[in-house]
Amino acid sequence: MEYGGRSHVVGIPRAMAAYKYAPFLVAFLEECGFRAVVSPPTSTSILREGSAACVEDVCVAVKVLFGQALRLKEEVDLLLVPRPVKVERRPHDTFTCPKLMAAPDMLKHGLKDIPPVEEFLVSGGRDPLRRGCLGLARRLGIPLGLVRRAYGKGLEAHRGYHELLRSGVHPTRALEAAVAGRPPADGLLAAGGGSPTVAVVGHPYLLGDGHVSHHLLDRLRNLGARVVTSCLYEGLGGDGFPVPVPPLSWSYERELAESAAIFSRRGDVDGMLYVTSFGCGPDSLVLELLRREGLVRPGVPFMELVLDEHDGPTGFHTRVEAFVDMLRRRVSQREDRLPPHG
Ligand code: SF4
Repeated sequence: MEYGGRSHVVGIPRAMAAYKYAPFLVAFLEECGFRAVVSPPTSTSILREGSAACVEDVCVAVKVLFGQALRLKEEVDLLLVPRPVKVERRPHDTFTCPKLMAAPDMLKHGLKDIPPVEEFLVSGGRDPLRRGCLGLARRLGIPLGLVRRAYGKGLEAHRGYHELLRSGVHPTRALEAAVAGRPPADGLLAAGGGSPTVAVVGHPYLLGDGHVSHHLLDRLRNLGARVVTSCLYEGLGGDGFPVPVPPLSWSYERELAESAAIFSRRGDVDGMLYVTSFGCGPDSLVLELLRREGLVRPGVPFMELVLDEHDGPTGFHTRVEAFVDMLRRRVSQREDRLPPHG
């Protein structure tokens, strides 16, 4: 199919690596003359349809991808799905999770009667995003002169989005704002203080998906906690990171391991939640690495929260509330031990 006319509507399913690249892609495509839409936030029906359409034993992130693609199928001419492979330059080979790398193929071969699926390959070279744009432009018939300008627009949006994440804006609100090109509707997650301080570590497509994560970040805030997330350290790690982490070939998992290590050394963090998806191979290995290598300091309360499409929010919230209560008791005992002022 030829998209040289560029009046087409391109749909980006709100799932997986779209939480990294959707603002870039929307700005890039719109500058090229396409209309770009990102599917709506995940709902019960989107997750139900996605789960029914794909194989049972994949992580919930893939099920969301399927549901989001189905949600877009009537209103777009083309589905665009990022395929992140080698997203950073290192002395050793690096990859992302096989499911992220295979996301466009899973849709192409797993769903019938959907619009054509196009990939945005992010892999290798000095500038993987520029490479991805050139490849996409070739396939969509976008003139080279236009690509340069559109790439600049995309990069601006990408940087703005990552600045929002690194400054502590709620990942859901940061994505919405960056895609719409307006300021976020909400302030910083940690704004207004609160106690205890809870660090939440997890992939942005889990933390930023309110439905899948049972609105964990908002829940913590409603419990009075101050919240910081691993999105603060997105893309910042690697050589020279203050806490050395053994070389890991999975780029995004290394970021999570680094975030967990940093949080456990920050004096202001009272406890940590590690959010993962049921059936996630890479995260289970990273959790083991955190334990074996002592990357999370002993004495920092740490709890894993596993997400899947079956569990309701009640048991999940009960665990979170019990964790926050325990942290609050520890903080108050610690304060009681402090010598009185004066
Ligand atoms: S890293 Fe885990 S949660 Fe993410 S796509 Fe891979 S298997 Fe799924």
